[in-house]
Parts: sequence; C-alpha cells; structure tokens
Amino acid sequence: MAIQRTFSIIKPDATERNLTGAVNAVIEKAGLRIVAQKRILMTRAQAETFYAVHKERPFFGELVDFMISAPVVVQVLEAENAIQLYRDTMGATNPANAADGTIRKLFAKSVGENSAHGSDSVENAAIEIAQFFSGNEIVG
Ligand code: ADP
Ligand code: MG
Repeated sequence: MAIQRTFSIIKPDATERNLTGAVNAVIEKAGLRIVAQKRILMTRAQAETFYAVHKERPFFGELVDFMISAPVVVQVLEAENAIQLYRDTMGATNPANAADGTIRKLFAKSVGENSAHGSDSVENAAIEIAQFFSGNEIVG
C-alpha cells in the first residue's frame, strides 16, 4: 500500500471545547503525520460546497449551520493507507457505534456534532485537499 494523503477537519464541537491538541494526539499516535494544518472559520458557501453530496439529506441545513458555528481546523494527514487508517482512527459516524479509543468515541457529542471529518476515497481526498490548501502549504 502506497503513502496516501487524506483530508481532515477538526469540527466546531471539538475546537469549541479546546480539544484540538487532544484530537491531534490521537491522530499522531495512530501513525498519521499532520503535513498541513490551519484554523479557519468556514463560510456558508464553503461548507455547502464541501458537503454538497449530502444536500438532499434531511440533516443538510443543520450540518452546514454546525460547520460554520465556530472555527474548524483543516488538515492534510499523510501515512501508508492514510484514508482508511484515518476512517478507523475517527470511528463510526455515530459515536454510540464508535469503537473504544477512536476520536468519535472519545470526544463526539452526537451523530451530527462528531468532532472529526475524514475523506472516504482517494478521489474525494484530492478534491477536499484542493478546496482548502494550495500545494505550497503542504509540507511532507
Ligand atoms: P462521515 O463523516 O462518517 O463520512 P457522512 O458522510 O454519512 O459521515 O455524514 C457527514 C456528516 O454529516 C457526519 O460526519 C455528521 O456530522 C453529519 N451527519 C451524518 N448523519 C447525520 C444524522 N443522522 N443527523 C445529523 N447529522 C448527521
Ligand atoms: Mg462522509
């Protein structure tokens, strides 16, 4: 398996509770390298574009409102098999179903306010990274 990059967001419920460092500790312990990172307040347009795939879902409006409610930390993570490794490190979308030791089990408040985003495919990782980072902001 090749070295991959994945896109991560530490979501508003986590930044609000001052958990950026705690989430990053779990990320690094899993063997993922943080090769780019910045704290931003997403615009509504950015959040709607980012989650466009979910625009027909009943929770879309609530999701966009949540993502712009406080700062987020956007990141690029690098590792062998980074995309699946980070999905495993985050745990299930609903923290009630997340395995012990995962970011969502440790920190998430609910299925919506679930502390972290991670890309679900090589194609989406490339699209998501490009939405928030230029090449010279990523230093592996
Ligand atoms: P994941 O983030 O694990 O890839 P999805 O792509 O299915 O999960 O959903 C994107 C995000 O939408 C979730 O991380 C969560 O913040 C929110 N979400 C998903 N399902 C629900 C739901 N049933 N109610 C409220 N928010 C939800
Ligand atoms: Mg998803």
